[in-house]
Parts: sequence; structure tokens; C-alpha cells
Amino acid sequence: LHEELYNAEKYQIMGQLAAAISHEVRNPLTMTSGFLQMMGKESLHPETLERYRKHAIEGVDQATSIISDYLNYAKPAVEEARTIDVDEEIASLTPWIAPLAAMSDVEIQLHHQADSSLYMTGEPKKFQQCLLNLMKNAIEAMPDGGKLTITTRTENEHAVITIADTGVGMSKMQLKRIGMPFFTTKEKGTGLGLMVVVSLVHVMGGRIVFSSKRGRGTVCELRFRLNEPADGRTD
Ligand code: ADP
Ligand code: MG
Repeated sequence: LHEELYNAEKYQIMGQLAAAISHEVRNPLTMTSGFLQMMGKESLHPETLERYRKHAIEGVDQATSIISDYLNYAKPAVEEARTIDVDEEIASLTPWIAPLAAMSDVEIQLHHQADSSLYMTGEPKKFQQCLLNLMKNAIEAMPDGGKLTITTRTENEHAVITIADTGVGMSKMQLKRIGMPFFTTKEKGTGLGLMVVVSLVHVMGGRIVFSSKRGRGTVCELRFRLNEPADGRTD
């Protein structure tokens, strides 16, 4: 009974969030639609036309980033939890993140600091969504370039993943507010990325800690209980 009550509450919160998010997606799309309509007017100055076109694209981009920050979270739990190889999942994300890093002159380094592979129980898509949102934030914190270092290690029967950047960092006030729905300091931010991360990490029984220094960078530490490999491998 306890469990059911908890779930009901959770779905109510998710429903409210979905409503808020659909509103957030609709706004920029309405803007896009408006600019596209204006572009249809006759004898527009080429510069005006270009300005409208830019705004139209901006609207679509904003809607896309809201959807991509929220994507797997919004999906009901169709995935099964299984044993995943932490470093394998991280490596599978690099093709997605590399172009973004290259655009901002960010160098990505992966460090595996354990004698063997790290296994944990989790849902791969959810795990990847977490890391993707965290890596995106790290890169966005380094608009003029820097280093994104992802380290995996073990500590007290736990897999520890750190995502460290050399970016703008955060103030104490900012650190307190991150993860709240729609809290963003970015002009084109969604303020949904970390909210999604925090709830997915908790769903998978993990923990997440941020430390940051303004002008120096940010370190995010994820912690999940270690597991045996799925097929009894010991490599
Ligand atoms: P968004 O990225 O759309 O702004 P997030 O929920 O992902 O939303 O992040 C919320 C806010 O947390 C960001 O706007 C930023 O102020 C802060 N933040 C998150 N990660 C970092 C980071 N690595 N370095 C500096 N600030 C960060
Ligand atoms: Mg983000």
C-alpha cells in the first residue's frame, strides 16, 4: 500500500511537470510559426527576411533542447534494469558529445582508475541521459574552451564517476538552486537537465554531489553500488 501511494504521488508530479513542459515547448514553436508566417509577406527586405529566419530557427532549437533534456525521463519505464558496464556506457556517448566539444574547443579525457571493469545495475538509456545532460552542462560552462575529464573508479563497493570541467563554475546561491525545475542561468537554457539527472540517479539508487568554484570549474560526482558482471566474467 505504501508503495502504491508513493507511485501515485510520483505520477502526479510527473503529470504536472509534463504540463509545464508542454507549455515551455509550445511557446518557442508559436514564435517560430509567427516568424514563418511573416516571412511569407511580399517585398521583405533581405535583412528582415534573414532576421525572421534566424528567430524561426531559434524557436525550433529551443523546443528541441527542452525535448532532448527531458526525453528519456518522460518515457514511462519501458526499460528493464540490467547489469551495465559503466565505462562502456560512457564510451558509447562520446560520438554524441564530441561535435559539441569540438565547437567550443573542449578536450575530452576519459580515465578509468580501477583494476577491472565497473558493473552496476541500471537502465542504460536513463544512465546515458544522465551523463549526456551532465556532459552538456560541462561543455556549456566552457564557451572559450577547456578540459572535460571523466573519471571512473571504485570506492567502498561503489562505482564513482566524476565529471569535471574547467569552466565558469557556480556561486553558492547557484549551487543551492540547481536541479530545481526551470532554474537556468543560460540565455537558451531549459533548466530541466539537472532535474532530470537527479531524479534518474535516484531511480537507479545512486547519489549525486556537486562541488564548484566560480571561475575555476565544477566537479560532479555520481555514486552507484557496484555489481557482479552479468555473465560471471572477471576481467
Ligand atoms: P540548463 O543547462 O538548460 O541551464 P540544467 O538543469 O542542465 O539547465 O542546469 C541548470 C543550471 O545549473 C545551469 O543553467 C547552470 O547555471 C548550472 N550548471 C549546471 N552544470 C554546470 C557546470 N558544469 N558548470 C557551471 N554551471 C553549471
Ligand atoms: Mg543543461
